[in-house]
Amino acid sequence: MNKIKFLGTAGARFVVMKQLRASGGIWLTLDDTNVMIDPGPGSLVRCLSSKPKLNPMDLDGIILTHRHIDHSNDINIMIEAMTNGGFKKKGIVFAPRDALEDDPVVLKYARNQVEHIEILKEKCKYHVGNIFFETPIQLKHGVETYGINFRGKTISISLITDTDYFTGLASHFKGDILIVNVVMLEDKSIIEHLCLQEVEQIITENNPRLAILTHFGMGMVKAKPWVIADTLTEKLGVKVIAARDGMQVDIDQYIK
Ligand SMILES: [Zn+2]
Repeated sequence: MNKIKFLGTAGARFVVMKQLRASGGIWLTLDDTNVMIDPGPGSLVRCLSSKPKLNPMDLDGIILTHRHIDHSNDINIMIEAMTNGGFKKKGIVFAPRDALEDDPVVLKYARNQVEHIEILKEKCKYHVGNIFFETPIQLKHGVETYGINFRGKTISISLITDTDYFTGLASHFKGDILIVNVVMLEDKSIIEHLCLQEVEQIITENNPRLAILTHFGMGMVKAKPWVIADTLTEKLGVKVIAARDGMQVDIDQYIK
């Protein structure tokens, strides 16, 4: 079964620090391949406490969209867990160059435990197992950050991770399902994140079969994301849902 499992929905430092929402990242199962995206603080714990339990040994790869700690904190322990404590060399880790070079978030000894490391770059194509994905454009987020388009056999999924809004952003992420990090309720121009109004604009422009909001900052959490999602669904005529910690989305129902 193809599925997206949210092991966390926290965005921005206060929601993560206080664990008002969990921050374990996203587990994607597509065409019999499993990848973990952005294993933030608590990722391993959330895998193991998930119902049904997710076994990190089943992972074929781990993707970091960028090096910020709420996305990368558990990368090393997830590598260990994926490789049976380093005893079974397997899996691919994908990360931007600045997560690997000076002040790396992926420890050097852990790199030897995986099959290989691939560096994410703009406009490149990658694959792990049966999952093919592209990084169409570098996002605007201070550190090197990429959004992703996953191409499954029957469905495509776009992930717009942390970024400031910029003209043309939506046009790069036209997946059947759109996952978007909506950190802020109101726009704060000094912070390189999307706010609700910008996300609304993106959904309107792309008209996906399903839009999933996640990675909520404090303002969004307080404003009840599920209420916001219902309002958007009604207003835009697009199915919008707000991710909850532990929520599993059955992808196959959105195949045309
Ligand atoms: Zn970030």
